[in-house]
Amino acid sequence: MRKEFTADTIAAIATPIGRGGIGIVRISGPGASKIAYAITDRSMDLGLIPRHAHLVHINDDNGQIIDQALLLYMPGPHSYTGENVVELSCHGGPIILTRVLDRVLAAGAQPARAGEFTLRAFLSGRIDLAQAEAVADLVAAPTPEGVSVAANQLAGRLSDAVHNMRRSCVDLLAQMEAEVDFDEDDVPAMDRETIGTLLDHLDHQLSTVLESSKRGIMQRHGIRVALIGSPNVGKSSLLNALLSTDRAIVTNVPGTTRDVLEESFNLDGVPIVLNDTAGLRDTHDLVEDIGVARTKRALESSDVAVLVIDSSRPLLQTDLNAAARVRATDKPAIVALNKRDLPQGVHSQEIAKFLPNATVIHTAAPMDDIEELRNAIRATTGIVDESGGLVLVASIRHEDALRRTRDELASAQHAVANGEPSDLISIGVRGAVNTLGEITGESATEDLLDAIFSKFCIGK
Ligand code: GDP
Repeated sequence: MRKEFTADTIAAIATPIGRGGIGIVRISGPGASKIAYAITDRSMDLGLIPRHAHLVHINDDNGQIIDQALLLYMPGPHSYTGENVVELSCHGGPIILTRVLDRVLAAGAQPARAGEFTLRAFLSGRIDLAQAEAVADLVAAPTPEGVSVAANQLAGRLSDAVHNMRRSCVDLLAQMEAEVDFDEDDVPAMDRETIGTLLDHLDHQLSTVLESSKRGIMQRHGIRVALIGSPNVGKSSLLNALLSTDRAIVTNVPGTTRDVLEESFNLDGVPIVLNDTAGLRDTHDLVEDIGVARTKRALESSDVAVLVIDSSRPLLQTDLNAAARVRATDKPAIVALNKRDLPQGVHSQEIAKFLPNATVIHTAAPMDDIEELRNAIRATTGIVDESGGLVLVASIRHEDALRRTRDELASAQHAVANGEPSDLISIGVRGAVNTLGEITGESATEDLLDAIFSKFCIGK
């Protein structure tokens, strides 16, 4: 991926391929307006008025009309990428858009790579790295709550907090370095108590930002729940009940093992991804073996295991086998004693004998009697209600950088407490400047930028 500013003009179809009301071809770079003149009936004499909608014909190289479109010209630096940008809102047909893009490329543009528009926005300083990441998160957000976290991040809420902390660290670092470089007469040493107070204050700010990270990360990545148990205990019925009473999520959270049925629903703004091993009811040895392997994988990839047991009959060996598999994973476990509407053959106390740490609850799936299950998922995973404060951190990368910042500042604080000289205190402060800069991009490496932008789609 190109990191440096190039004189290339890039272009891509920015809307999903398929039929729709409109489809957009986006062009960015120094040649954007020249290409716009070359492919439309808009003559140079008329000029392109910035941020005005021009109704134009896009022509092929024989002068034949490909489409009638609305052309928007946004000269840099006040555009998404910071460069000259032209957007062509065409009729939304895949053939039209492909022909228009081909025409734009023939007129001198290069095909844009994944995330290249947003990368250019970052490189031109229009947005910082956290905001660039928010663009991808906004589009991928699986719940309305995820959308609002990403929108806040794009608006700069996280970046502002990080910039403020980084600025304080940079100021402190400048002072420390001046103390090392100059005589005490020229630069009087900052008293250690003031430095200590400043570091405490920074630590407090970090804690406030990190407070919401667990919830933010859950909202972004979802929680994976494995539904396991013997055949006919009601796993599918529970899955259906959960999906029908909660708002189902259409998009799937990525990164999944795909050999078990997977469905998602929205629990208090957190996408819950259910791994259902329900299809595994055959008792034929081979199939059973595959079933065991799948159950194992479903358990491995999950955050929480829900072991479903038919409580209308005594426990079977297959229940005990499934329980042993759950116990072996060491994951938080919920045991759902299903079919509570029928005369009971299992007591919750019996479960404690083989899964002592599990939360035991009762359900009756076909009656939608599943509130205890939802509450147990909430309690086991730490999902709390929306009443909490603003979620600022929703990415493991950001959380990790903030935690490392905290370690750096703690080492500086330690140096202060031990009466160490300025150059030793400054090591931790400099570390904090770097780790904070990883979030907003000031200290991001090429590899990191590659990793982030390659996950974007073309046209973004
Ligand atoms: P799975 O094999 O574990 O997925 O089990 P199913 O969900 O297919 O359920 C097996 C049978 O038990 C079906 O006939 C369901 O209607 C029935 N069933 C599931 N849950 C309950 C329940 O809570 N109460 C009663 N009475 N029947 C249930």
